[in-house]
Amino acid sequence: MIKTRIAPSPTGNLHIGTARTALFNYLYAKNQKGIFAIRIEDTDIVRSTQESEQDIIEGLEWLGLIPDEGVSIKGEIGELGPYRQSQRAHIYKPYLEQLIQSGDAFWCNLSEQEIDILKQQADDKSEQFVLRSPYRDKKIKPSQESVLRFKVSDTKISFEDKIKGFIEFDTSLLGDFVIAKNLDYPLYNFVVVIDDELMQITHIIRGDDHIANTPKQILINQALGFTRKNFAHLPLILAPDKSKMSKRFGATSIREYREQGYLPEALINFLALLGWNEGNDREYYTLGEIIEKFSLKRVQKSGAIFNIQKLDSINSHYIKQLSPEKQIELGTQYLIQNRFDIKKWNERQLKSIIQLEINRIKKFADIGKEISFLWKQPEYNPDILAFKAMTKEDSITSLEWSYQLVYTIEESQFDTIEFIIKEAIQKDNKQMGEILWPLRVALSGLEKSPSPFEIIAIIGKEETLKRIQYAQNILKK
Ligand code: GLU
Repeated sequence: MIKTRIAPSPTGNLHIGTARTALFNYLYAKNQKGIFAIRIEDTDIVRSTQESEQDIIEGLEWLGLIPDEGVSIKGEIGELGPYRQSQRAHIYKPYLEQLIQSGDAFWCNLSEQEIDILKQQADDKSEQFVLRSPYRDKKIKPSQESVLRFKVSDTKISFEDKIKGFIEFDTSLLGDFVIAKNLDYPLYNFVVVIDDELMQITHIIRGDDHIANTPKQILINQALGFTRKNFAHLPLILAPDKSKMSKRFGATSIREYREQGYLPEALINFLALLGWNEGNDREYYTLGEIIEKFSLKRVQKSGAIFNIQKLDSINSHYIKQLSPEKQIELGTQYLIQNRFDIKKWNERQLKSIIQLEINRIKKFADIGKEISFLWKQPEYNPDILAFKAMTKEDSITSLEWSYQLVYTIEESQFDTIEFIIKEAIQKDNKQMGEILWPLRVALSGLEKSPSPFEIIAIIGKEETLKRIQYAQNILKK
């Protein structure tokens, strides 16, 4: 049975990179009818926090990446826990002792200064520094200063990466590395090997920033006689200028996207395409569809470029797909969040406002921002009321015509207001632009805005007439 895992360190909110790694682990596990596990790597006691863990677990579940095993919102699932490394110290200790016994690990008392001297000596000889500790065969008793190092022998370590292909490391370039500060304080490269074995992980899918750790983990794995794991290293997420992804190019935490009103289905779709494609340029996939199509073979080898415009366009697609009820619910929630007074409107008006916005916004946090004129009489430069070469007088006449027409229409007919106005324009032999442009600007105060018909239907007859009069007045000044 295939089993993958995401192993986040809870030292900050759920990062988009972690979310994407989790997604690829989830996709591979589900595609292979296997298990997706979440393990919390909280060995760094100083930087790990409860809040970060909560944010990560909640964020992953919000995205729909529900674990079959490990740490979940509802508690731990599975027989192979505990699934938080901070609760597993007693499990690691015997394996450290085993490595000391077998001579694969040794206590080392080299101080920082002594290591610096060895580095300098290598430098003086223009040699690459590789630590071969003088303590490796001494079998000293550990003291306060001791750390436990892995005894690296000169050999070649190779593996077939499921994404990058054949990778070989020459361990003569790898120093004797530290695996524990003491028997109760093992470090990442060691604990990860123990956990992946005991939790029966078959596939380790993670960012390629971990590639340099892989030979160390394979050495420990071999020394302990564990089963060989499969590795797949994902390309990093890069900014559009190919630099490391940073806040400058878009939010880096899932929480921020969530707060801005990006939908989980949009983020999933976007993150999947950040490094994977089916071999064509299809843009939209549900989680179920990606699970079905996913393969590690089709994950690209080099950096995946983060493009916020692409996320925006995918998100607006999914916003349009939401049920009308959900659109109204989220639209209302974000109008309130954006401090628009929704009590000003009845249910029908509020619905129309949200429907007006739903096809334009890229994310719910944008809602209302371009139509704040609905709430109050806008201020604007009267020059923009003129359509093309119209004079002030032409604009005043045009607005007067509109005023007289709207005056005669009942609010109950506002559903068909577009038809009524257009028909009247034709009947009176008027020019569409010369009527509709000044009318629309009078209502919105903007050169670009929704149509006058949509605005009239929302703000109502009285307010429409007031705004037309206001426009005429500022033209006359
Ligand atoms: N805890 C590591 C991290 O957050 C992941 C380790 C791994 O996937 O092996 O980067």
